[in-house]
Amino acid sequence: MFHPARLRPLVVAFVTIFALLPGIFHAAAQTATQPILITADLTDAPRKLIHANLQIPVAPGPVTLTTAKWIPGTHRPSGPIDNLTGLVVHAGGKELPWRRDDVDMYAFHIDVPQGVTKLDIHVDFLAVAGSTVSSDDGSTSGLQTTMEWEEVLLYPAGVPVREIAVVPSVKLPAEWKLGTALTPTSTDGSTTHFAPTTIEMLVDSPVIAGKYFREIPLAPDVTPKHFLDLAADAPEDLELKPAMIESLSKLVHEAGAMYDSRHYNHYNFLLGLSDREEGNGLEHHQSSDNRTPEHAYSDESLAPLFGDLLPHEYTHSWNGKYRRPAGLATPDYATPMQGSLLWVYEGMTQYLGEILSVRAGFETPEQFKEALAYSAASLDVKPGRTWRDLEDTAVASSILRGGGREWSNWRRGQDYYQEGALIWLDVDTTIRKLTGDKKSLHDFCVLFLGKGGNTPPEVVPYTFDDVVATLNQVAPNDWAAFLRERVTSKAAHAPLEGITQGGYALVYSDKPSGYERAVLGRTGVVDAYFSAGLMLRADGTISDVLVGSAAYKAGLGPAEKIIAVNGRAFSGPVLALALKAAKGTTQPIDLIVENTGFFRIVHLDYHEGEKFPALKRVDGTPDVLGEILKPLAK
Ligand SMILES: [Zn+2]
Repeated sequence: MFHPARLRPLVVAFVTIFALLPGIFHAAAQTATQPILITADLTDAPRKLIHANLQIPVAPGPVTLTTAKWIPGTHRPSGPIDNLTGLVVHAGGKELPWRRDDVDMYAFHIDVPQGVTKLDIHVDFLAVAGSTVSSDDGSTSGLQTTMEWEEVLLYPAGVPVREIAVVPSVKLPAEWKLGTALTPTSTDGSTTHFAPTTIEMLVDSPVIAGKYFREIPLAPDVTPKHFLDLAADAPEDLELKPAMIESLSKLVHEAGAMYDSRHYNHYNFLLGLSDREEGNGLEHHQSSDNRTPEHAYSDESLAPLFGDLLPHEYTHSWNGKYRRPAGLATPDYATPMQGSLLWVYEGMTQYLGEILSVRAGFETPEQFKEALAYSAASLDVKPGRTWRDLEDTAVASSILRGGGREWSNWRRGQDYYQEGALIWLDVDTTIRKLTGDKKSLHDFCVLFLGKGGNTPPEVVPYTFDDVVATLNQVAPNDWAAFLRERVTSKAAHAPLEGITQGGYALVYSDKPSGYERAVLGRTGVVDAYFSAGLMLRADGTISDVLVGSAAYKAGLGPAEKIIAVNGRAFSGPVLALALKAAKGTTQPIDLIVENTGFFRIVHLDYHEGEKFPALKRVDGTPDVLGEILKPLAK
């Protein structure tokens, strides 16, 4: 059962600054008596250079400074240390030598001379592709940037980051403006100064800045206050459609209704619209770092692809930031994170974010169902599930981000997102079934994510047993066995019970859905995946072959290139025609294939025509999924 008294000592407070300062000065007595000062200089951001000057209080003797390695929300050691450059340390006007730790690439050792009480440090961050594959690397365009503070931050190693005080400032290029969850206190020319905070909250509070910038208040009737901080590469992009602003305000209302609580003092959606920045979605307690293509919210055809981004990252303020698996609630950014419960952290957020996206009007119920069909089918045919269970994709999260498409169906990727969402749909529909529709996942959310109302940002860690206990409080059931079976299953097919209980069946159609057309239109991918087992680029290069499919049996592999189909030069439509023509016949499809400069003929023995996933209503059953997607807010 759920024991608040048991959880309470686990609460890790993000103390507000008023309560914070005496505590910090006390806790940091060994290392410092003053806060760190940091000024990030974005004036060179347009050419992918970010500078910072830091003043770090120290005591004489050996000191180890570190940068952040395990970045919250990325679930891996993605701190962009490879792009931290230009490190120069001064004390009393004299340069001091530093030496990087021989094992920990993020740590720097410095011998502080007698009489020295602070170090003056300069660093530069190169916002260019690097070996850590951090989303910070692609965080600039010529006209905007979203700076995550780990890019330029150094602080004493070995101290919990919530105990280190810091006073941040940001210098902008001429004409730029900024948005952030940090509290501005004053401006001085192009520099904005912010209220004192902690290293933990600083890393949790990115800054969006740009030449074309606009802050839009959302849901004005709601307290705490919400804002959209928008930066764009063109001035006309700032004129968002009224429907988009309306959906964001609805999202604020719907999330309040769903979680019956808020765990922030105010919330800033940071949104960078750019085709020149790397896409991103990173959650924070009081803000989120969202970067999408320039027209993600003005081009209707992109709605199915980006509609759930803001609802997903916003939901993380409750599920991921406030409630966090104990293995991910680390005291600093050097301690390795343990991701075994990411199917709760990300999987439930995926599910809730998609539902909120429909309830707020970012997506239609039809678009939701098309996206669900596609992800359910992708998981259902994925053979990697027979050697690796879902929990292993969560445990191994830190090595599964990125990577190519090649043989990804055999490797499995970060399936704890989409398959986690399927499991939470299963949980939701099972609660509804067990309680005769009197209760739903909403009741779990209120208990588990709300925990009794509004709080300032804080972390309340949980274990698997806490999840089970709260589910039992909502609807008694053997939830431990229910969840364990699903996350450790090596069954050949995905858990689709939630779809069935929702009143639908996963089927295959001979026409791609609107969702798929949006994906294919954007990426130029040729999809013969659910049919012959082939995913291709527009030029015929095979990006993946589904293990066990007709293409696999024909000996094809990724990185080979299909040059011709039945004697005709390859194109998506030519392949589609050949698949249709071979349907119901015994005649194989003849392919000319190139592999590293060598050519051969391949006979593809496939006769079932084109196949694209879809959801079909099951007659005579209640439309539970339809009920789930209805708005909750009054
Ligand atoms: Zn997420």
